[in-house]
Amino acid sequence: MNLGDLTKKQLKEYIGTIGESAFRAKQIFKWVHGGIENADEMTNISKSLREKLESDFEIYLPEVYKKLESRLDGTVKYLFKLSDGNIIESVVMDYHHGKSICISSQVGCRMGCSFCASTLHGLTRNLTPFEIEGQILRAQKDLAVKISSVVIMGIGEPLDNYDNIITFLKNINDEDALNIGYRHITLSTCGLADKIYSLADENMPINLAISLHAPNDEVRKNLMPVAKAYSLSELLDACDYYFDKTHRRITFEYALVKGKNASSEEARELASLIAKRNAHVNLIPVNPVTERDNVRTDEKETRAFQRELEKLGINATIRRELGADINASCGQLRNNEI
Ligand code: SAH
Repeated sequence: MNLGDLTKKQLKEYIGTIGESAFRAKQIFKWVHGGIENADEMTNISKSLREKLESDFEIYLPEVYKKLESRLDGTVKYLFKLSDGNIIESVVMDYHHGKSICISSQVGCRMGCSFCASTLHGLTRNLTPFEIEGQILRAQKDLAVKISSVVIMGIGEPLDNYDNIITFLKNINDEDALNIGYRHITLSTCGLADKIYSLADENMPINLAISLHAPNDEVRKNLMPVAKAYSLSELLDACDYYFDKTHRRITFEYALVKGKNASSEEARELASLIAKRNAHVNLIPVNPVTERDNVRTDEKETRAFQRELEKLGINATIRRELGADINASCGQLRNNEI
């Protein structure tokens, strides 16, 4: 097990069982979540305890396997290599006067969305809490920056890796670790409604983004198999519960696919579906994935869809395209390597 996969509480328990003083747990927690890569870097910890930690745990941060830097806007895309050789993707962006990182939650994905590159080869495995956090720590070290906000929108379905995501969130929020506020964290889900209820009850007011992509169940089932497990009405009930509990405004993501979900009638249907909710729609002209036959809407169609929503009182934006010169949509960089 990686030392960084322990919660602070588990680390305290471990320190107790090996007969060390409790305050050591806090010191070690700070080192590990500060990005050290070897126990010898813990300069205020005795040699014997460092050796004990080395023998009981692995200390490993994802390694930079490939790095692409945009000359247009400073966006950096990484392929990181995990200790077992698996590859994941992360992206660092300049955002509202700070650095934001988009991270992966699984190696591959089993949700099967028809437009998404991450799911083409299915799910290999879940990431551990520290493999998720390690993407932030490695990027910070590599770029010599402090990352101030996190979006869980890379490869994988975070709520399909629920327990590890919760540990990850607790750890990065800790004042002895990265100390990233919940309001600076966004989790994107394809809509596992039962897990949205659980998340709402965790008392962690993170921002929630829902990959909606359709105004009705029929269209949604066509694009996303998860729609067969949860109807839109079940999903939106879960969203309402989340909003009531956390008071965080929910973002609905909507990838526009020509001829499938992008007509003005569908815009009106979408508007009435979410009308009474304090919501925001983020429109993304779909990134065509070579293996699929989806076509993105052109600028005119995208703007028309946005205007239709706004006319009906729905707040809608078109996603900024960052790093256009190094572009490869979700999971596509990784697919080139496996
Ligand atoms: N599994 C999570 C998070 C990962 S995907 C989720 O489904 O939300 C992050 C976002 O990118 C999701 O909204 C997803 O639907 C969208 N996406 C995936 N492939 C895309 C593509 N080819 N073009 C545009 N958006 C895409």
